[in-house]
Amino acid sequence: MKAVEITGLDVRYGAARILEEIAFSAEQGEMIGIVGPNGSGKTTLLKAMSRIVTPESGEIYYNNQDMADLTFRQLAREVAVVPQEIAIQFDYTVREIVTMGRHPFIGRFASESREDHAICTRAMKLASVDHLAETSVNAISGGERQRVLIARALAQEPKVLLLDEATSNLDISHQIEILSIIRRETVRASIISVFHDLNLASSYCDRILLLKDRQIHAMGPPAEVLTRENIRAVYGVDVIVRKHPLTGRPYILLMYDHERGAPQSTRIHILCGGGTGSELMQTLHAQGMQITTGVLNILDSDYLTAKELGIMVISEPPFSPISEESVSILKRCLTEADLIILLNMPIGRGNIENIRVLNGYKEKVVMYGMDSGIQDYSGGEATRLITDLCGCGALRIESIQEMQSFLSSKRLHEKKDKSGMII
Ligand code: ADP
Repeated sequence: MKAVEITGLDVRYGAARILEEIAFSAEQGEMIGIVGPNGSGKTTLLKAMSRIVTPESGEIYYNNQDMADLTFRQLAREVAVVPQEIAIQFDYTVREIVTMGRHPFIGRFASESREDHAICTRAMKLASVDHLAETSVNAISGGERQRVLIARALAQEPKVLLLDEATSNLDISHQIEILSIIRRETVRASIISVFHDLNLASSYCDRILLLKDRQIHAMGPPAEVLTRENIRAVYGVDVIVRKHPLTGRPYILLMYDHERGAPQSTRIHILCGGGTGSELMQTLHAQGMQITTGVLNILDSDYLTAKELGIMVISEPPFSPISEESVSILKRCLTEADLIILLNMPIGRGNIENIRVLNGYKEKVVMYGMDSGIQDYSGGEATRLITDLCGCGALRIESIQEMQSFLSSKRLHEKKDKSGMII
């Protein structure tokens, strides 16, 4: 039996269509994250699911019961809602608000039982608001008030819990604590929660529902939905999606606005490895530079960064020496490059060929980050080669800022060369 089943849901506000043909279901115990840009209809979907707005068409079922047939009391036994923020008109205490979560279970003229009282006390403890029990909800902070609403929802012991960015007012430690508590305390309930933070959604949700322009753009496990392509299509931003080393779930790193980096004519080959080149690649790529890199091992983190940025990378399989074919591609890249940046990467027998070939391109080489000493695992050859490059006058740059001002002065110079003003 599905805890939630929604079919053909359309919602309008006046003439404006807000949601179209929304259809999905949720299993018992499942947590679904609703994500999407501002105005995509996330809150409206939760409002339709809690009968705050009436859909134009479509059905919403909770445990096989049509929501339209349920009384408010019956609905409240099925579904608890934690809104973003509510205005509380009266001077209720925290305990009074939390006790409202028990009202659907208390007879019309009865007062709460000892058990109801115990459930509310426990819910307040879980949400860390028990010390505020007798305080007015109007005399506590926004974050505390949000935890009170979460306690009220926990006290309601719902089968379905709807959260509208319920942790957005909380600091990061409370966010994690509350989401973990909600997950633990509602193992049999199905949770449907709006998230702004895609990484939080990825960490906690079994499935993600991604809304775009009134419709479901994608729905499925986080790894299927939170892809670079989907995020670009829905939010219009470029991100890097990596696999979280501990959870194996996707986590998203914001990159930058591509528009800002107008294409530049400068071609740069970056010789890096072991993650030494990732930051520089991202910075220069953001500025629209034409970058190539390699030769890199395909397990190297710089290789992954280059791939994610769509940078041309010369690569070899793991534990393989650099092949003749790769060397000839590398030489072609070095010939075409205006500049070659050599980073302070670990150099061993596997990648020393990258440095040996520089002999023919000394005048284009700039060294980056060498102040911390050469990482020579080649028995001294790498040190000899790099010292030789320094002896030939290769420029040494130590910071991104220095690199950027060097590149902009170089670009200016190139422009003047081309216009013939300075020879
Ligand atoms: P989200 O939660 O994804 O930011 P909402 O569901 O709040 O999106 O809003 C979806 C769209 O509906 C927006 O364009 C918003 O302006 C509009 N909208 C929201 N509430 C109302 C309302 N009460 N009356 C008219 N339009 C509304």
